[in-house]
Amino acid sequence: MGILVTGCAGFIGSHTTERLLADGHEVRGVDAFTDYYDPGLKRANLAGVLDHPCFELVEGDLASLDPVALLDGVERVLHLAGQPGVRASWADGFAAYVERNVEVTQRLLEAAREVGVERFAAASSSSVYGDAATFPTPETTLPRPVSPYGVTKLAAEHLCTLYGTNFGVPTVSLRYFTVYGPRQRTDMAIRRMIDAALRGTTFPLYGDGSASRSFTYVADVVEANLAALFADGVPPGSVCNVANDDTATVAELVELVERTTGCPLAVERLPAEAGDARRTGGSTELARRLLGWAPSTALADGVAAQVAWAREQLPAGG
Ligand code: NAD
Repeated sequence: MGILVTGCAGFIGSHTTERLLADGHEVRGVDAFTDYYDPGLKRANLAGVLDHPCFELVEGDLASLDPVALLDGVERVLHLAGQPGVRASWADGFAAYVERNVEVTQRLLEAAREVGVERFAAASSSSVYGDAATFPTPETTLPRPVSPYGVTKLAAEHLCTLYGTNFGVPTVSLRYFTVYGPRQRTDMAIRRMIDAALRGTTFPLYGDGSASRSFTYVADVVEANLAALFADGVPPGSVCNVANDDTATVAELVELVERTTGCPLAVERLPAEAGDARRTGGSTELARRLLGWAPSTALADGVAAQVAWAREQLPAGG
C-alpha cells in the first residue's frame, strides 16, 4: 500500500486520487461523504476510480475510525478531509469545524507519530491569513484569521508543525488559495456563478464585488500535492502557500463567467458576510524553492475548462 488520501471523494481529493492512481501508486482513500454539500456528487467524483485495482475505499468518519489501522502499510499521507466553507463556521456550525478540522487532524498525527510515515501533507488554507497587510502574502506573515473556519485551519496547521518540530513527523501544510475547476464544491463562488449563468438563475453576490482572490486551478493544486508528498528536503513542520499570481475581484469574475459562458448573469446584491477576507494573494516563492512547484494555469483558461465541464453536467436538453 502506498498513500492514504483522506477526503478522497471531495473536490481536490478526487482529482488527486485519480492522478496518484494514474502514476501507478496504490491509494487507500477514506471519506465520510458528509452532507456539507450533496454526498451524491462526492460519490460521482469517485466513479472513475472505484474499480481501479490499486484503489481501496474506506467509507467512514475519521473522528471514529482507527487511525493506526488506516495507516497500516501506508508510506505517505495526504490529509484533505475537513469541513470547508467560511459562512457556516459561525454559531452552531462551529462544532463540526472543530471536530473535522482540528480533532481529526490531531488523531491522524498521533497515529503517524506512532507508526512512522515518509510524509504527511495536509490541507491548510489562505483563510489563516484573514485580512493580510502584505501582498503577495508570504508565509512569514502573522496569521490572523477572520472566520472560525480559518481559526480551525490554523489550529490544525499548528498541530502539524508541532508534530513536525517535536517528534519529527514529516509534515507539510499547504495553504491553498481558492481552488477552482471541474467538480468544484457547490458552495464556492465560481461554481455558483457558472451554474447560475448556464441555468438562467440568480447569483447572490455578497458585498460590493470589490473583494479579490487568488484563484488556483485544481490541476495545479494536484501537482502541488504530488510535490508535497514526494519532494526531498522538506523540513518537518513546513508551511507553504499554494497560490496563483492570477487574482481577480468578484466583479471581474462575473464578467469573465459571462464572457466564457456567453450568458448574462443575473446578480442579486446582498450585504457582505462576516468572515470573508477582503483580499487574498499568496506569494509562491517558497513553493518554488521548497517543492519545485509553480502554478501554470491562467484564470481565463481554468474558467473555460470549468465551464466546459459544467455544461456536461447539465441535464440533457438543459
Ligand atoms: P470537499 O468538501 O470537496 O472535500 C472534503 C472531503 O472530506 C469531503 O468529501 C468530506 O466528505 C470529507 N470529510 C470531511 N470530514 C470528514 C471526516 N471526519 N472523515 C472522513 N471524511 C471527511 O472540500 P475541498 O474543496 O476538496 O477541500 C479539501 C481540503 O482543502 C479541505 O481540508 C479544505 O478545508 C481545504 N481547502 C480547500 C480550498 C478550496 O478552495 N477548495 C481552499 C483552502 C483549503
